[in-house]
Amino acid sequence: MTFRTIEKKNFPPFIEKLMPAMEVVGVREKVEGKYEFALLESPSQLCLDYDVTLLSPKKYFLPPRETLLKFRTGKTVSCEAVLASKPLAIIGVHPYDLKAIAQLDRIFADANSDEHYRKKRQDAVIIGSDIRRSSPYAFCKSMNSATVQEGFDLFLTDIGEGYVVAVGTQKGQDLLAQWATSRAATKEEVAKRSEIQEKIPYLFSLNTLTTPYDELPRLLTDHAASKLFDELAEKCFSCGSCNLVCPTCYCFDVQDEMALNLSEGERFRLWDGCLLEGFAQVATGENFREDRAERIRHRIFRKGKYIYEKYGEHGCVGCGRCASACLPDIANPVEIFNRLKEGK
Ligand code: SF4
Ligand code: SF4
Repeated sequence: MTFRTIEKKNFPPFIEKLMPAMEVVGVREKVEGKYEFALLESPSQLCLDYDVTLLSPKKYFLPPRETLLKFRTGKTVSCEAVLASKPLAIIGVHPYDLKAIAQLDRIFADANSDEHYRKKRQDAVIIGSDIRRSSPYAFCKSMNSATVQEGFDLFLTDIGEGYVVAVGTQKGQDLLAQWATSRAATKEEVAKRSEIQEKIPYLFSLNTLTTPYDELPRLLTDHAASKLFDELAEKCFSCGSCNLVCPTCYCFDVQDEMALNLSEGERFRLWDGCLLEGFAQVATGENFREDRAERIRHRIFRKGKYIYEKYGEHGCVGCGRCASACLPDIANPVEIFNRLKEGK
């Protein structure tokens, strides 16, 4: 990996130069203490000292509502795919969200390659940045997602007088060469970067898993019949917020909508969530996961077992968004895993 340095004074001009060439999205403070990924109108809006955003950058690759195709009916039936995408730079993505995007990249390129997702990913350049403070619910250290060495085009580490930029891909290198004033990082700067990154996992010392990462699937298998799922179900509203804020949840529902002229329409997809009551309901009315406790168990098994068994890494990156979005405060995976371990 190569390392470049951008002096602090040269960073806003870098963003300014990108703006006419592509959409530039970064982390902005939405209301006091709450952050979001949103379009930057000026470099001064970018905040790299945030804990977590309300939603992950997943929304740019798998939008909450996305038209997949348009069709016409009548004597001649026709349909046309809608592959809406444009050049995009996303700045300030934390390691846990980079890991989540890398996981979605694998899933959407798997057996049924999803061109809508893949086109948006191809058109995007991702600029990561270090976590500088943790959200109260995050447990990234336990999920191996406090730091990353891949999954980005460029990655920024603030070393005070400038940013050390790790170059992860050719796309990142080209972006830097074309739009930024940078120089090769010195040995001392790269060493300072490593020193900063070594301390990051300790930001998460308060929230840790009591089960090692690779032993979570076994823990869940052993406790599949735990009464804890029934206890949580009594408090759950089935609102689906824990699914909708999750950077690794990717389920969607596909619907067709006819225009009023009844001769044309569109097919679109919407985010769906396994905690919602109708998630597993099929056309005959049968609901395969009608019971709330079963839906909670299913979500937790997706986070700590099923995805791991298929891809070798968990479907949870420890961002803590689900825990902060859950009104009755019952969605926190680390608490659930630890309580299962304790047998409570
Ligand atoms: S399950 Fe919760 S903590 Fe884990 S990745 Fe999803 S939102 Fe983040
Ligand atoms: S956010 Fe909480 S209340 Fe809502 S579905 Fe998830 S666990 Fe249930």
